[in-house]
Amino acid sequence: MPSDLPLAERRHSVAAALRARLPERVVLSDPEDTRPYECDGLAAYRQLPMIVTLPENEEQVVTILNVCRELGVRIVPRGAGTGLSGGAMPISDGVVVSTARLNRIVRMDPYARVAVVQPGVRNLAISEAAAPHGLYYAPDPSSQIACTIGGNVAENSGGVHCLKYGLTVHNVLRVRVATIEGDVVELGGEALDAPGLDLLSVFIGSEGMLGIVTEVTVKLVPKPAQARVIMASFDDVVTGANAVASVIAAGIIPAGLEMMDRTSSRMVEPFVHAGYDTDAAAILLCEADGTELEVEEEIGRMSAVLEDAGASAIAVSRSEAERLKFWSGRKNAFPAAGRISPDYYCMDGTIPRKNLAQVLRGIERMEQEFGLRCANVFHAGDGNLHPLILFDANKPDEFERAEAFGAAILALCVEVGGTITGEHGVGIEKIGSMCIQFTRAELDTFFAVKRAFDVSFLLNPDKAIPTLHRCAEFGRMHVSKGQLPFADLPRF
Ligand SMILES: Cc1cc2nc3c(=O)[nH]c(=O)nc-3n(C[C@H](O)[C@H](O)[C@H](O)COP(=O)(O)OP(=O)(O)OC[C@H]3O[C@@H](n4cnc5c(N)ncnc54)[C@H](O)[C@@H]3O)c2cc1C
Repeated sequence: MPSDLPLAERRHSVAAALRARLPERVVLSDPEDTRPYECDGLAAYRQLPMIVTLPENEEQVVTILNVCRELGVRIVPRGAGTGLSGGAMPISDGVVVSTARLNRIVRMDPYARVAVVQPGVRNLAISEAAAPHGLYYAPDPSSQIACTIGGNVAENSGGVHCLKYGLTVHNVLRVRVATIEGDVVELGGEALDAPGLDLLSVFIGSEGMLGIVTEVTVKLVPKPAQARVIMASFDDVVTGANAVASVIAAGIIPAGLEMMDRTSSRMVEPFVHAGYDTDAAAILLCEADGTELEVEEEIGRMSAVLEDAGASAIAVSRSEAERLKFWSGRKNAFPAAGRISPDYYCMDGTIPRKNLAQVLRGIERMEQEFGLRCANVFHAGDGNLHPLILFDANKPDEFERAEAFGAAILALCVEVGGTITGEHGVGIEKIGSMCIQFTRAELDTFFAVKRAFDVSFLLNPDKAIPTLHRCAEFGRMHVSKGQLPFADLPRF
């Protein structure tokens, strides 16, 4: 199809080609119907898609891929649209493939401890379905009530319990994928090891750029008999950050190890009444799970380590209701930010645990530099930071300052040996920061993998891997320690 065709004509002919091979209800082309898909959780960026499709089975996914490939139309896969890095942001002349109707649990096998599910099944729905068997799916993004397993696979999502139980990549055994060529391939398997190259690991975290997931086999783990959580208070953030390292150094792997600074606990407390110590400069939430005896022993050891590390107060949940109350504050930190600021920008970077205190001090300095407040919430055990930069988009240049603040945090993460994402993916949000993290040769390798799966760059193009042009553009903006990234490239 000629690429210079006016959008309305292009929409008309692509929709007609899709409708010729699919039921009418699967194809949405009226802007009134496609408007709800114009952004994901990174709502600052919006783009009305040309067409949205809602396939009801794998065969229809393959048909959509075939039609789009034949017509040279670009495709954006979409789960629940909760992604925070713009991975599901549509393309003006592209087709969104939503998995909303692929929401069936195909098989629950409590003996093999696996569940086979369609990609549009919500993360929490898997655990709910497994609960009667005493099992659950461990990775628990805070968005688990809404986000889909297909989105989790594409982003390699994490959550509070991933310190002990691993990220999505450690809990998914097999995926079925529809490729841009219209083939269906299976990566991984239900056995412990799979022969051949480990393409499952390549695929997990590939942000919809290599294929569309049509089915996922996940591991289920036994629900622990008991879980209790410690809330420890600290008079300064640095002592709290060092306590995280002390817990891990003591050989303990808590079921969750999360930290919130005072701005965050004061932001969330009036919202959910979690019982947080809002005078503390930082609070740590440390969970122990297992049998009653194991939990008691681990709570005792963790309390001793936290006291030694300088905790000013320690409270331990006395019931399941209280445990959930303690967690409710952490889980609701993002929505609570909306109560104290018209807008917030959630960053996601990961650092070696030993650098937590140094990076937190750096963020404090940046608050002055960029003239914006920042609330810090993080998966401390994993070193995964979620600074929430508070701003008001209606004030001139505040959004630009918030973005620059975010990019500076990511640059600091890389500087201390960390990464520009921990669990939210790169999408469009952090594509510039990829130029700081990776060398030209490394980016070329990523493109080679992309090309091997999708030679025409039709699947979620322009996301996650920056072109050298983009790096040059970013380099023009970003000067770290006086050194221009990709200095050998011409600036234009
Ligand atoms: C309040 C809130 C809290 C959050 N907390 C966490 C957290 O604790 N941990 C965490 O990791 N994330 C968190 N997130 C981010 C987000 O929920 C995750 O990235 C999630 O995995 C996205 O799932 P989704 O179904 O919404 O995918 P979408 O946002 O729709 O898509 C995400 C990416 O996956 C691709 N994709 C979706 N489905 C498929 C498919 N079937 N095949 C191929 N590619 C596909 C899309 O193209 C896109 O690139 C949070 C988000 C919010 C709004």
